[in-house]
Amino acid sequence: VLIDEIYIGSDSVCHVVGPAPPTPTPTATPNVVSVTFSQVTASTEPISPNPVVAPYNPGIGQRIFPDDDTPGDTVDRRLVRVTATLSQPIANVPVYFRNFDLDDPTTDSVIDPNGAAGNDNNGMPRPGQLLFANGCGANGPSVFCPTNASGVATIDFVVTRQPGDNFAIAASVDPIAVNRVTVNGIELADGNGQNLPTETCPTQPICRSQMLTVWRRLHIEVDSMGQSTENRAIGTIRDTTRIRAGETVDVPLNPTTPSALEPNRFEGGRLVVNFRSYRVTCVIANGDTCNTADSVRVTNTAGVATLFAGYPFELYDDDDFNDNDVTFLDGDTGEDISAPDEITPNGMSLLTVGSDVETSNVFAPAYVRPLYLDETRDNCLFQQNLASDDDRAERRAIFRQCWDFGDRNTDEEFWYVVVFGAYQFTQASDLDPTTEYESGVVGIVDATTGVTGDLEGSGALIFMELHRTREIPAYNPDPMNVTSLSNTVAHEVGHLFSCQHGEYGLMGDPDGNPTSSLFTPASISRIRVLIHP
Ligand SMILES: [Zn+2]
Repeated sequence: VLIDEIYIGSDSVCHVVGPAPPTPTPTATPNVVSVTFSQVTASTEPISPNPVVAPYNPGIGQRIFPDDDTPGDTVDRRLVRVTATLSQPIANVPVYFRNFDLDDPTTDSVIDPNGAAGNDNNGMPRPGQLLFANGCGANGPSVFCPTNASGVATIDFVVTRQPGDNFAIAASVDPIAVNRVTVNGIELADGNGQNLPTETCPTQPICRSQMLTVWRRLHIEVDSMGQSTENRAIGTIRDTTRIRAGETVDVPLNPTTPSALEPNRFEGGRLVVNFRSYRVTCVIANGDTCNTADSVRVTNTAGVATLFAGYPFELYDDDDFNDNDVTFLDGDTGEDISAPDEITPNGMSLLTVGSDVETSNVFAPAYVRPLYLDETRDNCLFQQNLASDDDRAERRAIFRQCWDFGDRNTDEEFWYVVVFGAYQFTQASDLDPTTEYESGVVGIVDATTGVTGDLEGSGALIFMELHRTREIPAYNPDPMNVTSLSNTVAHEVGHLFSCQHGEYGLMGDPDGNPTSSLFTPASISRIRVLIHP
């Protein structure tokens, strides 16, 4: 100090040759040079870069999976440790933290109706929550925690669990500066409206973290019916009937199981009497009747035959879920019904494991990733048709006979659905005969999940017998085709996420006919607010 006074006070000593004055000891306040995240208990899907998912997620910052790794997991994976590091290793410096809900980065006004403003997360509290630990305290909107001997201050932060919610943390040793920070789109701005530097801040007074975005996992169990049995009608011939070669006749029947045949169900089918087969031949469009409650129209393609009264008969319709029976139609007797879609190691076509691409994971634009549970059962009870078109209990009974994680059905931390390979919905909607086309049902859920309350959907029945050109002439197995089996699966899982007909895209028009293979913003918005599927 004395030397300084001499220099400052006397121009005459400028030319004096001698030792230079010592550099003053730095007295500047240290600043926060970095703010980073780590999960307190790392998930099997750890914090990682947030991927780009066209067209709503530009892939900024990091993502976190704050849900359970396994059913019944007791670890709270919402906990994130925020680490702020000072420019100098000084202990007991209070670092002031603030948490923010940044704007949703999409430009879509359905998903993000409040424009560039923040505070638009779906989970509560919207900006997440900073937790007080020993030595921490509140200062207006910020929470301060002291540094350790390395000049590092940490605080734990709780994120929400709604997919697509996003956050950022600002930190500074200056409480006034950090309390003036505001959200500016996906940026944070200081009191002068200048955007803060992200993650590394060599000299700036306020530092902020990267944007942290919530992603969720969807755990899918896939089960299916076992071998087809008794998918036929039986009884006896009512009146002796002679059929010449090439002739077409109506054969009178006494059906026993069922006691009355569904009119025209046996279009394109096969009658078996005394080890001989007769094709059911008719053209409904020409006004033909294929079968009544107690008769069937067949053609004899071989030599003359006599069907004697009292002879037993078997009658099969055109059911052949895997198209392998050709003319030997037998109701798929003894064939194991397949699981829906391609269950490769990567799962189903539009619900591919680990995919962040919207064309192989249609849930990716809603920040959801599919996984498959190992417990797959393929021998659940066969049922040719459901009895009722509005009985949820009946539908549930079909898949609940085989589900292995039913106790996770309404778990908010472990999202779980069952996708079940079934055979056909009700007789009125199984496309037997093909004139049922307008009422055909290719898949159904026990219930379309309500956003809240007890309207809980938990499983999807996919009707395997209908997904083929014999039943749907326009059928196209390409996953991106709206008729495909893959589409049906994704559409039904959409219902389990509360998506509804009339949202168009994958969820379809008001009649439920998909208009594309992707979810629209209306559907994505529903998925993102749901507490659990
Ligand atoms: Zn539907």
